[in-house]
Amino acid sequence: MSRSAHPAGPRHADVLPEGHYTAPATDLNVLDEKVWSRTVTRDDAGALTVGGIEVARLAEEFGTPAYFLDESDFRARCRAWADAFGPDADVFYAGKAFLSRAVVRWLTEEGLNLDVCSGGELATALDAGMPADRIAFHGNNKTVAEIERAVEAGVGRIVLDSFQEIVRVSHIAQRLGTRQRVQIRVTVGVEAHTHEFIATAHEDQKFGIALADGQAAEAVRRALTLDGLELIGIHSHIGSQIFDMAGFEVSARRVVQLLAAVRDEHGVELPEIDLGGGLGIAYTSEDDPREPHEIAKALSDIVTRECEAAGLATPRISVEPGRAIVGPTAFTLYEVGTIKPLEGLRTYVSVDGGMSDNIRTALYDAEYSVALVSRSSDAEPMLVRVVGKHCESGDIVVKDAFLPADLAPGDLIAVPATGAYCRSMASNYNHALRPPVVAVRDGRAHVIVRRETEEDLLRLDVG
Ligand SMILES: *Cc1c(COP(=O)(O)O)cnc(C)c1O
Repeated sequence: MSRSAHPAGPRHADVLPEGHYTAPATDLNVLDEKVWSRTVTRDDAGALTVGGIEVARLAEEFGTPAYFLDESDFRARCRAWADAFGPDADVFYAGKAFLSRAVVRWLTEEGLNLDVCSGGELATALDAGMPADRIAFHGNNKTVAEIERAVEAGVGRIVLDSFQEIVRVSHIAQRLGTRQRVQIRVTVGVEAHTHEFIATAHEDQKFGIALADGQAAEAVRRALTLDGLELIGIHSHIGSQIFDMAGFEVSARRVVQLLAAVRDEHGVELPEIDLGGGLGIAYTSEDDPREPHEIAKALSDIVTRECEAAGLATPRISVEPGRAIVGPTAFTLYEVGTIKPLEGLRTYVSVDGGMSDNIRTALYDAEYSVALVSRSSDAEPMLVRVVGKHCESGDIVVKDAFLPADLAPGDLIAVPATGAYCRSMASNYNHALRPPVVAVRDGRAHVIVRRETEEDLLRLDVG
């Protein structure tokens, strides 16, 4: 994150002579369990295994680059969130982080709900059997066709994002002879990323209807008069990769104040509030995310307290973690290609993927760690930048990290915590073939999203 408040260490400097970097205190062979999925470990020979399978075998069978998703970890995280929030709250997995039919089935089985924000995500959810009433439909510019599809399917809620949409969804629902359950997404004047939040003027964005100037109160007024809508609550999503609960606190307080104002004006107590997603994960050892039960307690304490103060019954809370569920469950496996040492600077390590399978580093300076995983090594740590094979010098996967100095072409390296916003944001830049997602569980691995082929690319090219 560009505004990350990590301690300003040398790894955040742009270019420094190698001697100025402090080599890592820990042994490079030790896998930090914070950033690796639960079933990842090293075997006696020093090779990484996931779900009991050695990476060299996975590379041989599925090729590189590839994402390996630890299914039992994914399911465990779903259960941890569901248990933490309990039967009086709802957990919606944010499908945009990573969605496939298998993921939808796992979510369905583990009792989670699902957020979608496009016709494509909705189609995937329905195709894989997620009950429509467990689906929430988001987006600042849903098309008429998307809204029709969602209403027809009977989605549990549509999150209204604009004044036009309030009218549009009501008309569509009436035309289809139904009443659509909806929430109104408000912007509470809080934006939070990582360790900080800003509580001013963040209405300046495309999402939602501002609480400021009475806009949100006006939206509620209109929604309550329309026959096609059943207004069930207010929605607020304040940012991403958040560790600090203070932003949620301000957001919850402001949403509850709106509920109180709605009660005072209309005599209606809206029964639900959704506090969005954005909970942070550990991308590097420096990150310390909270556990779901701590987050659940913090949020429910805040809402209960604010509602008591306002004399309201506590509404049903929902949350929408995407990254916090899928992010830590996968790593990307790459094969090392060319290696270019720059004396006194760093060593560039090129891999067989890059910004086409992980755009986050180039897009917003995301931080990742990396490890040599096909073997262990006792060589000295060397400062590296892991880069891709694309025609951009900004094609960086891991900006600053240490790998053993005996790294060689053909070694396998892995970048952990790539489950969220990597495959879902993958591109075909340079006509790269998007990598497969392979689910691993109990000694078995199977492809859930297959690798693209040149035929796939050429099929769309109909000139
Ligand atoms: C992106 C998004 C989420 C999920 O965010 P994460 O950072 O992946 O938890 C949840 N709700 C809404 C409305 C979003 O836009």
